[in-house]
Amino acid sequence: MENLSCKKVLPLHKTVIYTNSPQGTVKLGEVISFSLRRGGGVLLSGDLGTGKTTLISGICQGLQVKNKVKSPTFVLVWLYEGVVPIYHIDLYRLESYEELEEIGWEEMAEEGKIYLVEWADKFYIPFTQNAIKIDIKSGKDIESREIEISFDPSIFPHLREDLENYVKSHS
Ligand code: ADP
Ligand code: MG
Repeated sequence: MENLSCKKVLPLHKTVIYTNSPQGTVKLGEVISFSLRRGGGVLLSGDLGTGKTTLISGICQGLQVKNKVKSPTFVLVWLYEGVVPIYHIDLYRLESYEELEEIGWEEMAEEGKIYLVEWADKFYIPFTQNAIKIDIKSGKDIESREIEISFDPSIFPHLREDLENYVKSHS
C-alpha cells in the first residue's frame, strides 16, 4: 500500500548568478525578496566581505524595511519591521545550535516570519528545509561575485523566472 505520509523529495533548483557591483547584488536581493513576501528563510554562506550583508540589505529593501541594515555580528540578531517581522541573524560568534536556540531560533523560524542568516554553514540548523540557500564567492575582479542560489521550486514557484529576468536585464 502506498505510504501517504512519506513526502516525495524533489530535486533543488540551482542557479549561479554573477554580479559586478554592490548595487548589482542589492538589486538581486530585491528580486529574491519577491519570493519571501509571505514569510520564509534565506541561509547565506561565503567568506568575510563577499557580500552577505549587502545581499540582505537588498532583500530588506524589497520587503519595505525602513531601518538601516547592518551586520548583527555583535548583537547576534536584528529584528526589522517589514511586510512581516524579519530576523537578520549572524552565526559568526556562535559555536553550536544550542546557542542559537537560546536566543530564540524556534520563534524566528515560525511560519509567516522571515529569517536571513549569515554564516549559516557553521552548524546544522533545524526547521530550515524550506529555505533558499545562497553561497557567495569572490570573482576575478575586485567587484565581481559568484552567487549560487538553491531552492525547492515547489516552495518558491516564481523564483526561477524572476532570476532569469534579472540575468536578462543585467547582461
Ligand atoms: P559580508 O557580510 O559577506 O561579510 P558585506 O556585505 O558586509 O560582506 O561586505 C561586502 C563588501 O564588498 C562591501 O564593502 C561591498 O561594497 C563590497 N562589494 C564589492 N563588490 C561587490 C559585489 N559585487 N557584491 C557585493 N558586495 C560587493
Ligand atoms: Mg556580514
